[in-house]
Amino acid sequence: MSLFGNKNRECPSCALESDSGHEECPYCGYEFPESSKGQTVMALLFLLLMLLWLLTAIF
Ligand SMILES: [Zn+2]
Repeated sequence: MSLFGNKNRECPSCALESDSGHEECPYCGYEFPESSKGQTVMALLFLLLMLLWLLTAIF
């Protein structure tokens, strides 16, 4: 549980929370996937698709 939103992230390997600035888990050495950029791009693409879908649905 984090009190600071997504400042910390949970390691999927050892389930311990660490600062999101780390590229790998300081506890077990698990390398976090470079998800922030990819997720942003995917979110933008998804939004664009939703907008297109809305536009085609309206007109
Ligand atoms: Zn870990």
